[in-house]
Amino acid sequence: MNTHHQVLIIGGGTAGIMVAAQMLKKDRTIDIGIVEPSDTHYYQPAWTLAGAGTFNYDKTVRSMASVIPQGVNWIKDFVSGVAPETNTVSTKTSGDITYDYLVVAPGIAYDLSLVPGLEEAWDKGVVCSNYTNSKHTWDVVKNFKGGTALFTQPTTPIKCGGAPQKALYMSEDYFQKSGVRNKTNVVFATNGGVIFGVEPIADTLMKVNAKKDINLRFGHQLVKVDGEKQIAWYAIGDNVSEVNHKDIEVSKEGDLVGIHFDMLHTAPPSIAPKFLQGSGLLNKEGWVDVNINSLQHNTYSNIFSLGDVAALPTAKTGAAVRKQAPIVMENIFHLMKKEEASNNSYNGYSSCPLVTGYGKMLLAEFDYQNNFTPDPKLKQLLIKDSSKEHWRLWILKKYMLPYLYWNKMMKGENV
Ligand SMILES: Cc1cc2nc3c(=O)[nH]c(=O)nc-3n(C[C@H](O)[C@H](O)[C@H](O)COP(=O)(O)OP(=O)(O)OC[C@H]3O[C@@H](n4cnc5c(N)ncnc54)[C@H](O)[C@@H]3O)c2cc1C
Repeated sequence: MNTHHQVLIIGGGTAGIMVAAQMLKKDRTIDIGIVEPSDTHYYQPAWTLAGAGTFNYDKTVRSMASVIPQGVNWIKDFVSGVAPETNTVSTKTSGDITYDYLVVAPGIAYDLSLVPGLEEAWDKGVVCSNYTNSKHTWDVVKNFKGGTALFTQPTTPIKCGGAPQKALYMSEDYFQKSGVRNKTNVVFATNGGVIFGVEPIADTLMKVNAKKDINLRFGHQLVKVDGEKQIAWYAIGDNVSEVNHKDIEVSKEGDLVGIHFDMLHTAPPSIAPKFLQGSGLLNKEGWVDVNINSLQHNTYSNIFSLGDVAALPTAKTGAAVRKQAPIVMENIFHLMKKEEASNNSYNGYSSCPLVTGYGKMLLAEFDYQNNFTPDPKLKQLLIKDSSKEHWRLWILKKYMLPYLYWNKMMKGENV
């Protein structure tokens, strides 16, 4: 089979659906195809809450058919390659599809093999991850009887860089409730040298960590995991430092430091999906090489990329996609009218709703320069300073954002 679409979108996730819905809202006659293999679409931001037993996981899942906008041709298949010189996308079973404009939005792929031992231990026993199985995280947290609760993350870029910390804070709060906190050392070991890149947010988080008596270990690069012996092994970077030392069990192996754990939560090592390798679309770091303001590909002007797979020096979040989708849409319309892709206005906006316990949250909103850029609309919610913990922000996260996602953003409305 050989098909052609005016606009072809790879991926029916947050980014792919938002772009398609927004384009059709503006012009119903546009011919759009989406290649997406999955039956289901996920609202991933709520997995943090599901992993803390405060959100029904099933409500994070909807059928893909229900979010694909009417009028879009859904090609239910895996993209297996892209040949930008001939405007062709190849698929696993549906043959080749040609396009006038291509939107590359297949999200991120996980590669557990980058941290030896992780694959064997993944989502088993006391090793858990909200990224892949928040139900298992909740089981592990609920059944935790004390010892060392280790929270960590890989050295690769990950989706929602704050999510490992959210699991840390929510679990610590649960340990208080379940009565095991006084026999638990809660440890956060990370490759970074600071808790968060945005100053007012980092200030609050350091206070939260102090209040929660969390042991912070910076400059810790996760290199392997021994699931059987329950040890996470780290290479130590130049930026190593420690805050609030706890005397936990630590082993040495050459230059490596092994932290023994009784539960481990981590994000998976992440890369761009393999089908993009060799396509000529990636930069040398392995992400889709687009102009960071217009989201247009730096070599192929009829290709755009957004979302987790795009090489944008900001946090990979759905909130970022919310600001990126209108730019991609408008620029494709410019090209259709034989104009330049002149919309260069994406400033790196991303946001990270940092839940710090049940009923508490602060909202990190920032740009490429890591300036704190709170949405003026927060004032309408009577939130004066979103860099501080607030229960109204928790209400936003738990109730308002999921509603807006399914009912507005997936429908192409600009919120
Ligand atoms: C635990 C967790 C917590 C998070 N918390 C937040 C938060 O609080 N706030 C926030 O804004 N964001 C959060 N995020 C991040 C957010 O979910 C992502 O940034 C967002 O979904 C990115 O959209 P995307 O379209 O790029 O990728 P996705 O939404 O992941 O969609 C990618 C789509 O591409 C499809 N695909 C993959 N490979 C192929 C292929 N070969 N061919 C065709 N299709 C393919 C997939 O099936 C998928 O449907 C969180 C994520 C996680 C995991």
